[in-house]
Amino acid sequence: MHVPTDALVRPQNRGHAISDAAAPSEDRWRRELADAIRDPEELCRELGLDRSLAAAARPAAADFPLLVPRGFAARMRHGDPHDPLLVQVLPVAAERHDVAGFTADPVGEQGTLPAPGLVRKYAGRALVLLGGACAVHCRYCFRRAFPYVEHGATTAGVEAALAAVAGDDSIAEVILSGGDPLLVDDARLGAVVRRLDAIPHVRRLRIHTRLPVVLPSRVTPGLTTLLAASRLTRVVVIHANHARELDDDVALAVRRLAETPALVLNQAVLLAGVNDSIAAQTALAERLVEMSVVPYYLHLLDRVTGSAHFEVGEARAREIVEALRESLPGYAVPRLAREVPGEPAKVWLA
Ligand SMILES: *Cc1c(COP(=O)(O)O)cnc(C)c1O
Ligand code: SF4
Repeated sequence: MHVPTDALVRPQNRGHAISDAAAPSEDRWRRELADAIRDPEELCRELGLDRSLAAAARPAAADFPLLVPRGFAARMRHGDPHDPLLVQVLPVAAERHDVAGFTADPVGEQGTLPAPGLVRKYAGRALVLLGGACAVHCRYCFRRAFPYVEHGATTAGVEAALAAVAGDDSIAEVILSGGDPLLVDDARLGAVVRRLDAIPHVRRLRIHTRLPVVLPSRVTPGLTTLLAASRLTRVVVIHANHARELDDDVALAVRRLAETPALVLNQAVLLAGVNDSIAAQTALAERLVEMSVVPYYLHLLDRVTGSAHFEVGEARAREIVEALRESLPGYAVPRLAREVPGEPAKVWLA
């Protein structure tokens, strides 16, 4: 399915006056987050879906609640229970099935914490957990079972993580992650960035966030100003799985980040019933490139408890990426990757 390009605003053709005039405030994204949909019944009602879906959602939602901002829900197709955006967020009965091979910590993260709030798995890079919260609950997420607070995604944990970064001069790149690190307010985020600026061996700041996609109003002038003030080279990795997630508001938010300047990349997860077709992956890659975003990774699912119904086999995954390689420019083809506990890097499969 191709996105009709003439209906989309090309970010590179927009003037500064437009992007400034539409600049959102800190209040706005806080309000939108507070107003997010948390009740399966309400989501089904808004989308004109059968109430039996809401009833089926309830038991799974008790373990990991439904959470979806209204702006993201507005991109879902009315009356379609198989909508690829809906499928990512609506709890379903299959999450309660125990499936062999699916565990609480599939990527072996919980054994790699040299300080609370710091994940150190790969050379030169360290991941700082800035907070446990997200603006959307993605049903396939491996973090659904991760005990953040226990592992220091707290103010004290972040302090300890920054101290550990300062004490290890092999760390050239700090990756802010979570949860979603952009749910932290600008004052606290600015303080973290300034602390990193002051550590001489840190050269790059990477931010892994789904907020520009699910809550684009988060990209405020306050945020872009604090990023632009940093001496660090900036990389922002957004997370979109389907072309329909990427509307004009998202394109504008991404453009504001890119102007700081920052390199903007996307990571996606290959998900059954969401994006496991050549057409869906082609449309996603083309839309990303249109927004000047590089498709970086296409991850195979991390085998976390409750996500087995999303799994796509490795053979099918390779087939899809091979087809992309035959039809798209090289830079538009994401690396098919899987995280294997104990490996020195993510494993590239194609
Ligand atoms: C994915 C990941 C990274 C970054 O890996 P890249 O291949 O550089 O994108 C770093 N640390 C951890 C713990 C990760 O999971
Ligand atoms: S960490 Fe990312 S994938 Fe997981 S629930 Fe949060 S936004 Fe979704």
